[in-house]
Amino acid sequence: MSPSTTFRSGFLAGAALCSLIALALCVTNAQNKPSQEPKSAVHGIVIANMDTSVKPGDDFYQYTNGGWLARTEIPPDRGSYTVFGILADLSDSRTRALIEDASKANASAASITGKIGALFNSFKDEAGIEAKGLAPLKSQLDAIAAIHDQKELARALGETLRADVDALNNTNFHTANLFGLWVAPGFGDSDHYTAYLMQGGLQLPDREYYLSDSQHMRDLRAKYLTHIAAMLKLAGFSNADERARGILDLEHAIAEKHRSLADNEDIHKANNTWAAADFSAKAPGLDWAEYFRAAGIEKQKTFIVWQPEAFTAESALVALTPVETWKNWLAYHLIESYASYLPKAFDDERFAFFGTALTGAPQQRPRWQRGVALVNGALGDAVGQLYVKKYFPPEAKASAQAMVANIIAAFRKRIDALTWMDPKTKAEAQAKLNTLYVGIGYPETWRDYSGYEVKKGDAFGNVWRARLFDYRYSLGRIGQPVDRKEWCMTPQTVNAVNLPLDNGLNFPAAILQPPFFDAQAPAAFNYGAIGAVIGHEISHTFDSEGAVFDSKGRVRNWWTEADLKHFNEATAALAAQYDTYKPFPDLGVNGRQTLGENIADNAGLAASLDGYRASLARKTPPAQDGFTAEQQFFIAFGQIYANKRREASFRQQLLTDPHSPGEYRASEVRNIDAWYTNFNVQPGEKLYLAPAERVRIW
Ligand SMILES: [Zn+2]
Repeated sequence: MSPSTTFRSGFLAGAALCSLIALALCVTNAQNKPSQEPKSAVHGIVIANMDTSVKPGDDFYQYTNGGWLARTEIPPDRGSYTVFGILADLSDSRTRALIEDASKANASAASITGKIGALFNSFKDEAGIEAKGLAPLKSQLDAIAAIHDQKELARALGETLRADVDALNNTNFHTANLFGLWVAPGFGDSDHYTAYLMQGGLQLPDREYYLSDSQHMRDLRAKYLTHIAAMLKLAGFSNADERARGILDLEHAIAEKHRSLADNEDIHKANNTWAAADFSAKAPGLDWAEYFRAAGIEKQKTFIVWQPEAFTAESALVALTPVETWKNWLAYHLIESYASYLPKAFDDERFAFFGTALTGAPQQRPRWQRGVALVNGALGDAVGQLYVKKYFPPEAKASAQAMVANIIAAFRKRIDALTWMDPKTKAEAQAKLNTLYVGIGYPETWRDYSGYEVKKGDAFGNVWRARLFDYRYSLGRIGQPVDRKEWCMTPQTVNAVNLPLDNGLNFPAAILQPPFFDAQAPAAFNYGAIGAVIGHEISHTFDSEGAVFDSKGRVRNWWTEADLKHFNEATAALAAQYDTYKPFPDLGVNGRQTLGENIADNAGLAASLDGYRASLARKTPPAQDGFTAEQQFFIAFGQIYANKRREASFRQQLLTDPHSPGEYRASEVRNIDAWYTNFNVQPGEKLYLAPAERVRIW
């Protein structure tokens, strides 16, 4: 029997910069605005951010963050505002300075500083972009217009394939192209990189946007239809309304066959190897030989097909839907995908829908910040090298490594102490800890960008070549030996991630700073904040997803039936607990969709508390403003989840994010016994759970 696999990923979604699609979607996340370097007067929990008029047992999130919530407003250029977003602003400001220094250095176009500067400046050159109009897309639009049969259609579709999805590390299942490629260690052969193919074809974030019957979604679809027509009109298409209707109908038909997010996260449903020669029989319709040839993967013998039923259905739609409709779909998708690098009218129209309508943000982020996102996406490691040199001292690295060692030791003890787990299963769990790679701050090897050509004053071309460069880089890795110390996040990213197929973790430099980590703060603060994040990522090694991958990253169920039964019972209780959180009458937290992340929060907090206690070594920890050390530990945990969201953005998160909203993540404390004793939480208080109802997994 296989575990019901729902999983992990980055510590939060939406910040992944590894793949260039994240870049294209940045507008929907609308994070970031310039900010000052934070005042570092406080080392530890921020009392001014709390609301001590509330009982911690009634609403721990309000108790730890009420002050912040009362005085914070969501900036107009974003749909939500979080501690992560504020820190990302800081990282962006620093990165901007590094980029501007690089662009002033007068370096040659072929040098890495020359590329950083030229890429950033090409995006900032709004007058140049305006003057070119739609000319940069002309050859592609002409090629689409010239398609007149199924073979040419298959070729055009194949030419759009990019390495823009990532199922397990950054958990990005979305591509607007017909399909997406992900190159990663193989499910069966984790020593070599393998080609995974995933469903695609939708502009909206998920199938629910097309299929849900709620009034909110019906309104959004009406706006989307108007938006498609507006983009086509801007590009000079006749009969734009009629074409838009056909495009939306086609996307709706694709959405009906898409796998849901919760099902996408089930590894066993994803582990389907298809020989290239089998595609025509298993998914008739699309001219697969032509598609593979155009995508440059005609020599590839096998693929892992994540959602076979979607491939069958989408391929059938290629044959069943008139070629003219597909041509409209291709043209619209091309324009949408590059609208941010086209004249202002396209950029504004894209933002009006994907920014304002989808996330509620009234304003676009400032140009410089979007430019930083572009450079981070295309040349992330090159900027990262500059970033760590300036902002990540060796002492910070050493201090974080010591915490990791304590938390890993805590996990070892917890595993040994489990009464329900079979000794053989425990041995494999310990083996996973032995081979776990924990990357702190930055990667050990940096990506080489010498094959990426950047041209002055060519924003569109620079982005086009960046996506192609990334794609060819991925193709070049297929079949190659796996580098277990690879990174999938840049050092300047405010996030953390578990890479299950590598049995590795990445903690980028940009998250190793206040309010997550501060070398001058009490240990209780650091363990409650970044310690819980570290524990969260380690937990993914053993959770319902981790149970599917062994110590070498291979797909092999290493649990016994009895282990699995216990695990499923314990985790079902956690899913039920999160199902009770209902921020809207018609939409709540999906306990199953968020289960893997909730397990990681649960285990990470518990293990970090153990690690903290072990680190004390008989020292007496200091109180701060009347709060004991362990109270500080829990308050620090609550404070990393401070967030504000506009309704549209909140709804999008509930539907598409495997992580629970911050207020519920902060409430995870209710499953930890020590929280009750430290805050004297009593029966009858809203978060109170009787001891038997508290969910303990590890
Ligand atoms: Zn996670």
